[in-house]
Amino acid sequence: MIFYSTENKNNTASLSEAVINGLADDKGLYMPEKIKKLPASFFENISNMSFQEMAFEVARNFFGEDIPEADLKEIVFDTLSFDTPLVKVTENIHSLELFHGPTLAFKDVGGRFMARILGYLLREEKENVNVLVATSGDTGSAVANGFYQVDGIKVFVLYPKGKVSNLQEKQFTTLGNNITALEIDGTFDDCQALVKEAFMDQDLKSRHKLTSANSINVARFLPQAFYYFNAWAQLSDEEKAKEVVVSVPSGNLGNITAGIIAQQMGLPIHRFIAANNENDVVYEYIQSGKYTPRKSVETIANAMDVGAPSNFARVLDLYQHDHGQICQILDGARYSDQQIRDIIKKVANTHQYICDPHGATGFASLESSLSKDQVGIFLETAHPAKFHETMEQILGEIEIPEKLKAFLDKEKKSISLSNQYQEFKELIDQQAY
Ligand SMILES: *Cc1c(COP(=O)(O)O)cnc(C)c1O
Repeated sequence: MIFYSTENKNNTASLSEAVINGLADDKGLYMPEKIKKLPASFFENISNMSFQEMAFEVARNFFGEDIPEADLKEIVFDTLSFDTPLVKVTENIHSLELFHGPTLAFKDVGGRFMARILGYLLREEKENVNVLVATSGDTGSAVANGFYQVDGIKVFVLYPKGKVSNLQEKQFTTLGNNITALEIDGTFDDCQALVKEAFMDQDLKSRHKLTSANSINVARFLPQAFYYFNAWAQLSDEEKAKEVVVSVPSGNLGNITAGIIAQQMGLPIHRFIAANNENDVVYEYIQSGKYTPRKSVETIANAMDVGAPSNFARVLDLYQHDHGQICQILDGARYSDQQIRDIIKKVANTHQYICDPHGATGFASLESSLSKDQVGIFLETAHPAKFHETMEQILGEIEIPEKLKAFLDKEKKSISLSNQYQEFKELIDQQAY
């Protein structure tokens, strides 16, 4: 498969180049050259297939030309070591629970898949690589756990000292092995600046191969299409015959863009809703046709605190930059923190279901817009206990699952660094491949 840059269709890359470089050299995002439709037989059989089997068919569409069948199958099956169950919340609204992976958030799917694809490509090229990732919390845990014990890859996670929750910190500082946690005396922006400077440092790069693992990477972005198929497969025949509306709590728009790609592969989704918190640039674009990226504001659904969603370029590209076409498939919604709190309370009391602050926006956008003969699915993007401080303020004490507790019992290991580049560079020189 050839991948092109959203900035210039003639600027193309192989799978290996797209995955290792992440971003195109013109700062565009890579897109697959073709989005092939899956055959009718696939949709007829889908409810009899396992999640892993259907994901393998989806993966073949994008990666099948570059990765032999047996290897790709192993990568997909190994990535999806957990299910994404569809849980009924009201008569016509379902929650697609994407929090059954190792770090209890949907980013596990992309993180695990990308780690395995990168591991495979490096083995083919007999190379080792170092992944640098700056995190304000959740990305670091999904990437670190995804890459844990993958041969040929060392991961350095940079995080701001004292600015991530105890639970988040434990998820990437207790692994050891090929994962090194760097506790930076500074802010998230400082962490990101250190990573950026390293990527521009030709001297450092002459000694070490460096790559990033952020959400713009095609190997993190495309596998998110898998669970849209799994959601549809779990609907009853009667529901499958109805219009299906999918609502996605959105920040950088990677997740929803993967859903749109699933639809273009033939998945019968009628409409998508991009649910926003107060960071509502997408909502505003849908209403007005004007796109005004700006600084993000802090909310209780903090994984959606994005003021300039990077995957917006992909949405524009899929619809030839045509606002009218985009509005035919995409709706928007936005919720304040107070509204999110009220939704969580109401869903818990009325339907005995606990939404996390992100999923709550998805639920509410369906409840207020679905007609009686439509079926709604919202993506429950993380387990509510990941945000237990916020959740406890809203609902009182909530249960923390064993999987999260297990991280809490382990010993934190991290290296403390200042926010000075020279110190960071010396550490990379000593410890990187
Ligand atoms: C990352 C994240 C989102 C936003 O997903 P995008 O792909 O960036 O739109 C929503 N909810 C949770 C819990 C997340 O971690």
